[in-house]
Amino acid sequence: MAHSLQINQSGQSASVGDPGGLNGDLNRGPKDGDLVDLVGLDRSEIGVELEKFGLLPREARMRTRQLWNWVYVNGLTDFEKMSNVSKTARQMFAARFMLRRPEIVSEQVSSDGTRKWLFRFKDPKHPNLPAVDVETVYIPENKRGTLCVSSQVGCTLNCSFCHTGTQMLVRNLTAGEILGQILMARQLLGDFPNGVRPSDGLVPKQDTRAITNVVMMGMGEPLFNFDNVKKALLIASDGEGISLSKRRITLSTSGVVSHIGRAGDEIGVMLAISLHAVNNELRNELVPINKKFPLEELLAACKAYPGLSNARRITFEYVMLKGVNDSDADARELVRLLAKIPAKINLIPFNPWDGSPYECSSWERIETFADIVNRAGYASPVRTPRGRDIFAACGQLKSTSERLSKRAQRALETPQKEIAGKTDEEK
Ligand code: SAH
Ligand code: SF4
Repeated sequence: MAHSLQINQSGQSASVGDPGGLNGDLNRGPKDGDLVDLVGLDRSEIGVELEKFGLLPREARMRTRQLWNWVYVNGLTDFEKMSNVSKTARQMFAARFMLRRPEIVSEQVSSDGTRKWLFRFKDPKHPNLPAVDVETVYIPENKRGTLCVSSQVGCTLNCSFCHTGTQMLVRNLTAGEILGQILMARQLLGDFPNGVRPSDGLVPKQDTRAITNVVMMGMGEPLFNFDNVKKALLIASDGEGISLSKRRITLSTSGVVSHIGRAGDEIGVMLAISLHAVNNELRNELVPINKKFPLEELLAACKAYPGLSNARRITFEYVMLKGVNDSDADARELVRLLAKIPAKINLIPFNPWDGSPYECSSWERIETFADIVNRAGYASPVRTPRGRDIFAACGQLKSTSERLSKRAQRALETPQKEIAGKTDEEK
C-alpha cells in the first residue's frame, strides 16, 4: 500500500540521517536576510565572501575547502558542528552564511517504493513573498536509486500530455534550491556519513549510495533555467563534494535547441530529448516548442552534441499515446530518424492525470512498437512507470504554488540575476 505523511513543519522534525542537526543556526545571530545562502555558491564565490571578512586569499581557499567538505560530503547544516574549524572561524561562517534546507510539506511512499516529497522553499531575502512548493521524486531499484529533480516551479511550455505544463511558471529555482532537493533527499535517505536508511520504501542497502543517479526530469524545462541548472549540476558533480559522476546525471529537455550545445560544452552531463513524435505536424501539437525549434534543427543539434559516442548516447524519450503516435509506421520512422545519432530509445507509457486528453497505448501495442525498435538494435526500451499510485510518475508532477505578480517576480529574481538563462520564450 502507498502511504503518505503530512509533515507541515520545518525539516527539523526529521530524524533519519541527520548527522548535523537540521537548519543550523537560522535563528541565532544575524537575521536571515543579511546572510548569504552557502548552498549554491561555487568555490570562487565562497572565497569572495570570505575575503570580504578580511581573509587573505590563501586562507579563504583553505576555509572554502573545509566548508565544501562539511556541507557536501558530510551534510552538515550547523556551523557549530564543524569540528576541525576554530571557534572564531565558525562564528565568522555563521555571521556570513546560512545553510538552509527546504521545509518538508509532505512525503508519500508508493507501493513500489518510489517516494515523492513536496519541499517548500522560502526566500529569506524576501520574507513577504510566498514560498514555493516543489516536487522531488526518488525511484529506488536494487542496486541504484534515481532522484528526479525539478528545475522550475511550473513550466512555461505546455506539452499537451504533461500535467506540469498545466501549471504556469511560478519561477525558476535557484542553484541552491536545485541542490537543496539533492541534499535534503540524501539526508532523508541516510546518504550522508552516519546516516540511517528509512525502514520503508526499498532503499538500497547501506553499502551503496541511496542516490546513485540524478535526472533533471522533475517540474520545469531545465534549459530555460540554464545558469542555475548549470551551477547546481557542476557542484553536484564536483569530485570533492557530492561527487556524482556526470555520466550518472541526465538532463532532459523538450528541445531547447539554442541551449543544447551549451549544455554539452558547459555542463557535460548526459542528455535526454523529449521527442514524442516523428513529424513536425504532430510534434507541434504535443511539444509546442517544436514550432520554434523544428525536428530537423533538433536532430542536427543532437548530432553535434559535444562528447557523443556509442558509449555516451543521447536518450530519446517517446511517450506512448494511444492512437496518436504509436503505430508501426511511427516506430519505423523513429528508428530511421535516429539512425545517424548514437542514441538510446526510452518508450514511456503515458501516465494519466485528471483531465488529461490522452490514453496510454495498450500493452500489446507498446510491445509491438518496442519490437520494431528492438530489432533496430535498441535494447529494453520501455520505461516501467513508477510511483503512479502517488502521482509521482513522469509528467504527473504539479504543485499548487501560484504565479507571482510581475512586480513580485521582479523583486525576487532580478537582483539575483537568476533569469540570465532565459530564452525569448520566457521573456
Ligand atoms: N521539461 C523536461 C523535463 C521534465 S519532463 C522535458 O520535457 O524533457 C520528463 C519526461 O516526462 C519528459 O520526457 C516528458 O515529456 C515526459 N512526460 C511528461 N508528461 C508525461 C506523462 N503524462 N506521461 C509520461 N511521460 C510524460
Ligand atoms: Fe514542461 Fe517538460 Fe512538461 Fe513539456 S514535458 S510541459 S517542457 S515539464
